[in-house]
Amino acid sequence: MNKSFYIETFGCQMNKNDSELMRLSLYDEGYVLSEKIDEADIAVYNTCSVREHAEDRVRARIASDQGRIRKRGGLIVVAGCMAQRIGNELIEDKTADVVIGPYQSPAIGKKLNEYFLNKTARLFLSQSAEDFESRFRGYPESWHSWLTITHGCGNFCAYCIVPNVRGRLMSFSSTDIIERAKNLAASGTLEITLLGQNVNQFGQDTGDISFYLLLEKIAAIPGIVRLNFLTSHPKDFSEDIIRVIADNPNISRNIHLPLQSGSDKVLALMNRAYTMSHYYTLIDMIGKYLNDYSVSTDLIVGFPEESDNDYRATLSAVKEIRFDEAYMYAYSPREGTPAAAMKETCGAREKTERLNELIAIQREISKGRLMTRLNCVEEMIPEKISRRGSDELMGRTSLNHPVVISGSSDDIGKLLKIRIDAVSGSTLRGAKIA
Ligand code: SAM
Ligand code: SF4
Repeated sequence: MNKSFYIETFGCQMNKNDSELMRLSLYDEGYVLSEKIDEADIAVYNTCSVREHAEDRVRARIASDQGRIRKRGGLIVVAGCMAQRIGNELIEDKTADVVIGPYQSPAIGKKLNEYFLNKTARLFLSQSAEDFESRFRGYPESWHSWLTITHGCGNFCAYCIVPNVRGRLMSFSSTDIIERAKNLAASGTLEITLLGQNVNQFGQDTGDISFYLLLEKIAAIPGIVRLNFLTSHPKDFSEDIIRVIADNPNISRNIHLPLQSGSDKVLALMNRAYTMSHYYTLIDMIGKYLNDYSVSTDLIVGFPEESDNDYRATLSAVKEIRFDEAYMYAYSPREGTPAAAMKETCGAREKTERLNELIAIQREISKGRLMTRLNCVEEMIPEKISRRGSDELMGRTSLNHPVVISGSSDDIGKLLKIRIDAVSGSTLRGAKIA
């Protein structure tokens, strides 16, 4: 009988996309999907290494499942960034039976065949170019598709493990990407999200067209009603990109522009290669070109040598810019990164206090930003039934604000016009008008 698998995904959109590719690869080799981890022959954990907490979550999850999996003779596979970082250790301490790094995880089906053949091939961690498995495959099973345009990153932000575990920047060819986007649109995809650690650097390693041109060409594909891109980097985000967004109404007006810190001193220590003054110039430029837009960000508190004044500079920037949404983290040292060699000056308690204060301030700002949407007519694509009831649908507006409306599952994956009539916590509430 064919072996069954279950995939548990941790971390970012890249990992979600890689999990989809793993599923396709396992289907190719005759493995079948199991709805429950407790019924699967193979438990795959697609992991994240960005913060220690992310790795702790994976370890806790495997520890709690392990006994049951082993008892029925199941296989534990760890894929993704944590596999790449500490794969040997995971095999040695018997946490995992097989580990597969991000270069090869989309070929997981073949790798597991290899393992089942002789049970000696357990580590698939090579990062050589010939082991890099294509990210272009499969057909959409829904109205939304991820489209990876670059893999890896060579920016070496001092705190970041990504260059170590996912390797340097590798851009896919614009011809292949555009072809893929056309195929997706032709087979029913309405919304595409272009993915890369720093999409703005697209083509810089291969001499291909610049990101803004790629964006323009994909936006022009008939049938693509919404085009998102993640993530931008303030050092590479440019007026050309903003101009293309302004000229193409189907490009999302949500700009995700990670700031990380409001202090020039800390930004320099982080090797971010921009200053606050540059960041403000970009925000002004966005405002000049776009009538309606939202800006979201990532912020880290407690980086080595972040003084109280530096932290206050982050708070001031947050209050001044008024981000629609922010993903906020306490700095977590990652072995092998430049920042791990820096002396930590902020204790665990102080980091938590700073983070909690920042979160509270941003929560109020986010709520204020949502309030400005009251009575606006917006576009929304319902994504799923709301947790609160089967007659409610959840989705995101074009500005990426979360919204709930009354409706039935027939509307999932359709572009709707809605009117915003309330704000409930961190979510908009609206009603369908067309
Ligand atoms: N490439 C994207 C970028 O440049 O923003 C995403 C990188 S990372 C997966 C997402 C976010 O995690 C970062 O923007 C940063 O705020 C946070 N992060 C990364 N490493 C971290 C660390 N060591 N400690 C705390 N937060 C971290
Ligand atoms: Fe990490 Fe910086 Fe690259 Fe983002 S741009 S993946 S934070 S090194």
